[in-house]
Amino acid sequence: MKQLVILSGKGGTGKTTVAAALAHLASREMPIVLADADVDAANLELVLSPEVQETHDFVGGKLAIIDPDLCTACGICAEVCRFEAVVPPSPPPPHPPSPSPNLGRGGGGRRGERVRAYAIDPIACEGCASCFYQCPAGAIRMEEQVAGRWFHSDTRFGPLFHAHLFAAQENSGKLVTLVKQQGRLRALDEGRELLIVDGPPGIGCPVIAASAGADLALLVVEPTVSGVHDLERILTTTNHFGVPALVCINKADINPRRAKEIAAFCATQGIALVGQVPFDTVVTEAMVQGLPVTAFSDGLVSRALRCIWARTREVLRP
Ligand code: SF4
Ligand code: SF4
Repeated sequence: MKQLVILSGKGGTGKTTVAAALAHLASREMPIVLADADVDAANLELVLSPEVQETHDFVGGKLAIIDPDLCTACGICAEVCRFEAVVPPSPPPPHPPSPSPNLGRGGGGRRGERVRAYAIDPIACEGCASCFYQCPAGAIRMEEQVAGRWFHSDTRFGPLFHAHLFAAQENSGKLVTLVKQQGRLRALDEGRELLIVDGPPGIGCPVIAASAGADLALLVVEPTVSGVHDLERILTTTNHFGVPALVCINKADINPRRAKEIAAFCATQGIALVGQVPFDTVVTEAMVQGLPVTAFSDGLVSRALRCIWARTREVLRP
């Protein structure tokens, strides 16, 4: 079983268009499994019309919770938290004027007034548990947080593993690893020949997770001002992890000069440029129909993508 990961140095380059087309083309020749590793903005499902078979919670980490009944408001948790996630109590409202000089005695607080507890900002809390270990009153507990969901779905091209990370949740690298592992296990279990991973954009932790163990990376780049720079960034990542890379240029004809720059850069780096896809609104039309563009049209875009698949397959099968 081989693993092909499709990456780009930034979002919006058409990576998913390429991934969906390759899923369509590859599935006609061999049994495949798909994994959408862009868990922050999964959109392979938009063009593969998956039928969800299983849904699972993703437990991404822990969150500190303060029990207000136990908190003595000592403030130690706020001192030890390096993420400024502990919220001190708001100051008490001013005392109303005492109706009689004999009332209102008894020190700073009104008699029977409850201690105003500290609280945790769930967005800022990193779950490091420092406050949990330092709280002298045992008022803090660490709770597991459901940070997203992952799915196993059926598509007409093969099983798809995909996920949604909830807003403001961390650990997308962990979720990417989980989605990929599920895809890999399914491929091994069923003797499927290829796992196609639609990777996340950029060069961060989720990209590293998506690239780990890949046999080949197909890098999708657009001929923009930052095209070569974006390509350099993602190549640094794939080179670092020893993943061989191929390059394709999407919307190559919107800026031929930049496309030539990218081609020249690939030549100097000894990286194969396996295709140049022209701009065409047919890509959007296919997406609206919920289809990979290669299953929707037989025009120039589809022909370019078929060439890219043919050359990618050659490298995957030496
Ligand atoms: S350390 Fe414990 S008792 Fe002290 S303020 Fe924080 S939660 Fe309350
Ligand atoms: S778990 Fe860590 S990050 Fe969260 S409130 Fe406690 S000390 Fe701060």
